Amino acid sequence: MTKPWLKEWNKFTPQAIEEIKSHNDDTHLEKEWMSYVYEKNGRYYIGEASLGQESAISVIPAEKGVKDYASKGLKPAQRKWTIHGHPLKDGKIYNGRQYFSSVDLIDEFLEVRDSSKNGGRKRIVQFIVYPHEQKENGEKVIHNRVRILDFPNSKTIVSAMKTSNPKIDPYQITRENGMNKATQNGTALNDMGIDWFKFQEALGNMGYMGIVDIEGRDNGHYHPLAAESYMDRFTPMQRFALLLFGVGASFYAYAEWDKRA
Ligand SMILES: [Zn+2]
Repeated sequence: MTKPWLKEWNKFTPQAIEEIKSHNDDTHLEKEWMSYVYEKNGRYYIGEASLGQESAISVIPAEKGVKDYASKGLKPAQRKWTIHGHPLKDGKIYNGRQYFSSVDLIDEFLEVRDSSKNGGRKRIVQFIVYPHEQKENGEKVIHNRVRILDFPNSKTIVSAMKTSNPKIDPYQITRENGMNKATQNGTALNDMGIDWFKFQEALGNMGYMGIVDIEGRDNGHYHPLAAESYMDRFTPMQRFALLLFGVGASFYAYAEWDKRA
């Protein structure tokens, strides 16, 4: 059985995957990029990429939609999700940037959790593209990977939150207490104490999060990988550093990108 996250990935056309790859091939330029994902006849296409800063991007949704229609014929009614790139930062790979940030997740979490009350979307899928260092034929290479995250319904994300963060009541989470913020000593955590990395891993264990390597070898377009748990490989110190990373004021800027409009 194909896992739900992989089904989502498999909907992208080969052309869309090439475009995704090309946007992240300039990852050394340290620019975030973001595109809308459109669905047409059951396949996913991406619109034009908007470029942002090192770890922030803001777009005007209506204008962006008009542009995608003009340049690619993708209609606002076909718009489904977003995909964005976390490039290198200071020329380096940070493990935390290989995950969705708290700002990437908070609005979507609340929208799906409360969808029966707020009329929001009952299901939301998101994609991030990031560089990853790995060994190929004994040599260190950087490949672009895509992390796919599916919020399939309220019940599932609430349950993933409970499993991954047992001390937290998922229904008490708000935008204010769930988003990481920088503190005076430069650390950054959220008031609820949510570990958003563990939350993503919990969804992975349920089949709703996974990773794809889009460089590929042997002319293969990409290699689906299992929903690996990177957290397990971190030492406790690294894990601590990861939690602090995630974070700074920089991630706030995502709030400007109105994903619902
Ligand atoms: Zn992000």
